[in-house]
Amino acid sequence: MMRRSGLDGAQDRGQAKAMGLIIDIPAILANHAALAARAPGARAAAVVKADAYGLGATRVAPALYRAGVRDFFVALAAEGRAIRPHLPQDARISVLSGHMEGADLTGLTPVLNSPAQFFRDRAMRPGQSFAIQLDTGMNRLGMEAPEWAAIRDEVLAAGPAFIMSHLACADEPGHPANAAQLAVFRAMTEGCGVPRSLAATGGILLGPDYHFDIVRPGVGLYGGLPFAEARGVVTLSLRVIQTRDVAAGEMVGYSAAWHAPRDSRIATVDAGYADGILRSLSGRGASLYAGDVACPIVGRVSMDLITVDVTGLDQVPDRLDLICAHQPVDRLAEIAGTIGYEVLTSLGSRYDRTYR
Ligand SMILES: *Cc1c(COP(=O)(O)O)cnc(C)c1O
Repeated sequence: MMRRSGLDGAQDRGQAKAMGLIIDIPAILANHAALAARAPGARAAAVVKADAYGLGATRVAPALYRAGVRDFFVALAAEGRAIRPHLPQDARISVLSGHMEGADLTGLTPVLNSPAQFFRDRAMRPGQSFAIQLDTGMNRLGMEAPEWAAIRDEVLAAGPAFIMSHLACADEPGHPANAAQLAVFRAMTEGCGVPRSLAATGGILLGPDYHFDIVRPGVGLYGGLPFAEARGVVTLSLRVIQTRDVAAGEMVGYSAAWHAPRDSRIATVDAGYADGILRSLSGRGASLYAGDVACPIVGRVSMDLITVDVTGLDQVPDRLDLICAHQPVDRLAEIAGTIGYEVLTSLGSRYDRTYR
């Protein structure tokens, strides 16, 4: 029932690049500087786990190094090994999962989370750098108070690079868990004589009590909440593969979830839930943007494709933007019922990543 279809000219002529994730490195550096300025007494590290929240750690980490950052955090040893060759030796790469059995931690600093990890690490890497994570109430990672009390002197004698903990509710400034965790962290680390670290992005914004010696911003660098003043970092621009006219009453997409309420023009763009465009965006009022003009997503988001109502456009451009100034990461996350972190880290490997 299609009345008009076909490749739009630009793609046919091979002019359009692959669909694209455009990553604004100067914006990441500006966000880092802004967060560092909120914690003037502390050294500002950078968390680049999960491939720098999906944006490309081998590009992001060296840029931050050139801007003066010397402390990097990853979740896994493999992530650390991936960026190690891209950073000079004086960059410290700390591995939050610590020392897992069989891990190759050459050139990395494991953040040891339990007495078992501590003893394994000291047996296998004597003299090499390590750090300690304490659990102050989140009950996720780190040594509990009694475990810590039992080995504290031995750990301190071995010379940890720093001691850290993590806040569960730092994105809610009024949450009583923040002050409670702060008090526990202070009690567990008082008199250690070792640099201390408690705050991620949210903790930086809680104020100086939370800053200690090293702060560990992640999501705020990449333009996400809770750093509301962050500069946007990501533009996600999708190619229009095809456009067609659809008559009032016709269906669009899987399960016929959308029927055109009027004669409509529909564009099909070349990314879907396999690229991290969450299927839960379907039918919830998210749009792609042609410049300033919002073009609603209609029908279901499918694996590789999205259908968009472009009836309002005089001319359909080669590309439509899903993440842009009009619809930042956190707005998209809100529509999809999730958080900016998940939107960013879901962005898949099929995008052409362009760095500015
Ligand atoms: C992910 C993580 C961070 C960074 O958190 P953001 O909220 O992204 O700033 C810092 N510390 C630890 C332990 C983490 O797991």
